[in-house]
Amino acid sequence: MYEGPIQDLIDQLAKLPGLGPKGAQRIAFHLLAGETTEIDRLTAALGKVRDDVTFCDECGNIAADRLCRICSDSRRDATKICVVEEPKDIYAIERTREFDGRYHVLGGALDPLSGIGPDQLRIRELLKRLAEQSDGSVVGEIIVATDPNTEGEATATYLLRMLKDFPGLSVTRLASGLPMGGDLEFADELTLGRALSGRRILV
Ligand SMILES: [Zn+2]
Repeated sequence: MYEGPIQDLIDQLAKLPGLGPKGAQRIAFHLLAGETTEIDRLTAALGKVRDDVTFCDECGNIAADRLCRICSDSRRDATKICVVEEPKDIYAIERTREFDGRYHVLGGALDPLSGIGPDQLRIRELLKRLAEQSDGSVVGEIIVATDPNTEGEATATYLLRMLKDFPGLSVTRLASGLPMGGDLEFADELTLGRALSGRRILV
């Protein structure tokens, strides 16, 4: 529609989730009209995300060091692991202040149509953690907190099958009441907190 670089920018922005062509156009023209330092700061931030973001060795959360803030906090209960799809889900659950355990990030959910099977998720790493935690503690509960949608449910069912025979391990799932079909991060703190405290035992 437009000529040259501004259209390229709109095309790139429109590929981002939740933006769409209109939102992309608004941001592109905002940047064009603004101070050039704003573009410099944005470019620098993008470069840092590309080059400097690392992930926790233990749980897969975003980390500034080898271990994330939660895994390196000895006050967190290492006998409980809450399994989530993405790092952003950790922040949603942390906001409820209902959970004092640790996390495990799968990096997505099972979605065979998009070619995402168990090997594409950090399931092997989870099983390894159950066998040997880095601090020697034994995991007694896995809380499956995948999203309340088709892929999330399929992932929960798969995990349950993998985990049900671990001796001394109980597997729980967030209570119903979360908006079905949605993302965990869109649930308000109260609803998510209730789903967490009312979690049901699967095995
Ligand atoms: Zn971690």
